[in-house]
Amino acid sequence: MLPFDISLYSSACQTKQDKNEKFYLSDFTMDLTPLLGTTFECECGKSHHIPTRYLHYGENALVKLAEVTAELSSGKNCLLIADTRTWEAAGEKVFQLLESAGVDVTGFILEDRDGESPVADDITKEDLLRRAPQADIYLAVGSGVINDLVKWVSYLRKKPYFTIPTAASMNGYGSANVAATVDGLKVLFHADACQALFAVPTIINNAPEELTASGLGDVLAKSVSSADWKLNKILFDDYYCQYSVDLLKDLEPVYLNNPGGVRRKDPEALKALFEALLYSSIAMTITGTSSPASGGEHLISHTLDMIANRDGRSHDFHGRQVGVGSILCAALYEKVLELDKPVFRALPTTINSGFWGSLSPVVEGEYGKKLERVVEVATFIEDPAKWQTLREDIQPGLVAASQLKNCLAKAGGAHCYQQIRANGQPLSRKDFINVVINANQMRSRFTILDLAMLTGVLPDQLEEVVDTWLTR
Ligand SMILES: [Zn+2]
Ligand SMILES: [Zn+2]
Repeated sequence: MLPFDISLYSSACQTKQDKNEKFYLSDFTMDLTPLLGTTFECECGKSHHIPTRYLHYGENALVKLAEVTAELSSGKNCLLIADTRTWEAAGEKVFQLLESAGVDVTGFILEDRDGESPVADDITKEDLLRRAPQADIYLAVGSGVINDLVKWVSYLRKKPYFTIPTAASMNGYGSANVAATVDGLKVLFHADACQALFAVPTIINNAPEELTASGLGDVLAKSVSSADWKLNKILFDDYYCQYSVDLLKDLEPVYLNNPGGVRRKDPEALKALFEALLYSSIAMTITGTSSPASGGEHLISHTLDMIANRDGRSHDFHGRQVGVGSILCAALYEKVLELDKPVFRALPTTINSGFWGSLSPVVEGEYGKKLERVVEVATFIEDPAKWQTLREDIQPGLVAASQLKNCLAKAGGAHCYQQIRANGQPLSRKDFINVVINANQMRSRFTILDLAMLTGVLPDQLEEVVDTWLTR
């Protein structure tokens, strides 16, 4: 239950055009708008609920934010959380607008730690819980890290939060999941999605180019992550929702076919990218799983993060790593689906503790769950009819590795392993290869990394894939 009256919230959000609706439809041209705040039945067999009630993408979004917050927060207080960069990009302006609208608002700037920008981990969360004042409504002004931290803290304090994105850099804005590092392991856990999102195109467009290209990398993962999800449906009869996979269908061509537009900050391209990131996060929320947007490519990024955190080193942006991982996974799919008569090769029965080091105990638990299921895959790989059906089912949803690479290269994103920064240095070929062949161990979820191993594409063809697709 929300601590404020949602009918009040709804009335604040109504316009002349949609007086009878329970929510306000902004100038954000979303197909989903009639569904905001509602529950609807889906062909997948689940009732889907979109908890976010208000989405506004437009130059006057902050004015709307002030109006809505002023009405909602009567007699309540708000806490705005930003880091030093996002305070400068938008936080201060939001704070002033809210103050002048009569909102009882406090600003909290999360400082850098040891010269590095804040990270979403349990240490920072504890620090926030200790130092951030209590509030009735929380406002996250920032991108991935701030959004995750505020989502986490407001959830623990059982209060709603609004998000004010400062970059089209990742797909967590509409998601109920928190992506964070806990005890060294990169985990995803359930919290509450934002109640409202206010995005200003000029602010999003002013974000560093690298952050936008990072968002593109995150959203491009969709073709491989959806294929991974479908793979789990085919192999293990797991839950799968075609509706949520199709949410991005109309937006995808806008940035996929016009990556130069993302680099030039063409408003239509950036809007499509932002919307796609949002749809992607909503897909995760309504299905209750990260599967629509996270497959083998994410395991590569998570592994890079975990190894860096273990060693006290910095890692690159999530979306830059995911983009490179997506090209790799698309190429692995191509190699695997080319096989006419694959031969089943069992996975190692234990994790590579030499690679994981002190992380081994947590990784072992995940890998153990995977091994129990993998046995079933042998029948698909060795039965020609089943294998043929699998190939035909998976193929149509995939985007070619060449197209993903071309898109990222033209948009200014990372598309080679050397462009990934590990502690500020280019990632080495040896380290990249080690990450690829061990990443499947850190999550129980079955992905193309596993299928490539079970068919021998990994490690046999890895060098060739890296030389063809991921080397400058
Ligand atoms: Zn569904
Ligand atoms: Zn992601």
